[in-house]
Amino acid sequence: MRPFTHTIPFQEALRRVHEAVRPIERTVTLPLADAAGRVAADDVSARADVPPFDRAAMDGYAVAADDTAGASPGSPRLLRMVGVTYAGSAPHAAIHSGECVEIATGAPLPPGADAVVMVEHSARAGTDVRVLEPVRPGQNVGRRANDLAAGAPVVSRGDWLSPARLGALAATGIAEVTVYARPVVALASTGDELVAPGARLGPGQIHDVNRFTLPAVVLAHGAELHHLSPVPDEEAAVRRALEAAVAADLVVFTGGSSVGDRDLVAAVIAGRGEILFHGVAMKPGKPTMLARVRRPGADAQLFLGLSGNPTSCLANAYLLLVPMLRALARLPAWRPQRLTARLARDIVAHADRHQFYPVRLEGETAVAAFKGSGEITSLSRADGYIEIPAGTERVPAGTEVTVTLFH
Ligand code: AMP
Ligand code: MG
Repeated sequence: MRPFTHTIPFQEALRRVHEAVRPIERTVTLPLADAAGRVAADDVSARADVPPFDRAAMDGYAVAADDTAGASPGSPRLLRMVGVTYAGSAPHAAIHSGECVEIATGAPLPPGADAVVMVEHSARAGTDVRVLEPVRPGQNVGRRANDLAAGAPVVSRGDWLSPARLGALAATGIAEVTVYARPVVALASTGDELVAPGARLGPGQIHDVNRFTLPAVVLAHGAELHHLSPVPDEEAAVRRALEAAVAADLVVFTGGSSVGDRDLVAAVIAGRGEILFHGVAMKPGKPTMLARVRRPGADAQLFLGLSGNPTSCLANAYLLLVPMLRALARLPAWRPQRLTARLARDIVAHADRHQFYPVRLEGETAVAAFKGSGEITSLSRADGYIEIPAGTERVPAGTEVTVTLFH
């Protein structure tokens, strides 16, 4: 065993992560229905005017506004109803002064009409319509192209496709959209001791936890998974796993990244690329490694090596992998749900490391939930975490802390 001789500050690790990421360039054209949450890869402008015609914004009567001047309940203006138009109908023939058309919301205005009298502001007997309030030209009318004029920008390259942006594309008649591909993340657990849940444990064996925690994070932040087979603690196996992952945009290995005699990942990576850091002053999650691995005939590939300890691995995932995935996928920075709470008990911090500290919420109080970096219940029984920056010796009970929630 060799100790870590050098760690970099957490903020520096984060900076190097951002510097190392090359946002995805591949694009894919998808039907609009499949594009929710994706990132537009092109500027898109409106194919056609929205709405395509002047239309009623209220149920009522299409009128010439001039015909309603001075109308009031005491002195209504009498108009003759000459027809009805529903949404989806062709516009009614032109109306003349003194005439109106009954009109439904969304129906096209007839020529000659420039406003709609709300049905609530009218009284009708047969084809006699009494208008009880005047309308201005344009009142209760959705003008052609008022929402989007043909040629106007609808979404820009890099825009996250929110429900409303999909709606704007649909409104202007666009059926397909070109978006950035999801980055592919190859994921492997390393360790001779690991056995899949469902299989019996032999002597010295444990169930593979990270294979189930990390995919949830990867999928939630815009990437696709390529599951690699579990990797035994042999250099040849680590090499084979890297070869199997050669097409991925990012390779994430857990385990074998610390400095134990059998921790072979760093040794293999060092022979194939450039290590951008190995050892971060954070707790848990110190043995974390970031590297660029050479590939034949392609750009270097990003490699992230995480501690095998399940809690360390997840702390790294929240603090380093999430920003990395989102930058790769070109998603906006993650804004997790945060709330403030008062710390129930003193926390004696590790002043030399940035700490990821899981807490449980009891009302307005944050209760320490950390057991150890190897214990997954440190997190499974927590609601979120607080971050304690390096340099802090102690956080006293009663301190107001910001809790980042897991959901
Ligand atoms: P390592 O990072 O390989 O030195 O592993 C550190 C600790 O985490 C050891 O106790 C391993 O048995 C454990 N560990 C490694 N990988 C996993 C995994 N995928 N699931 C659960 N525990 C793991
Ligand atoms: Mg190991």
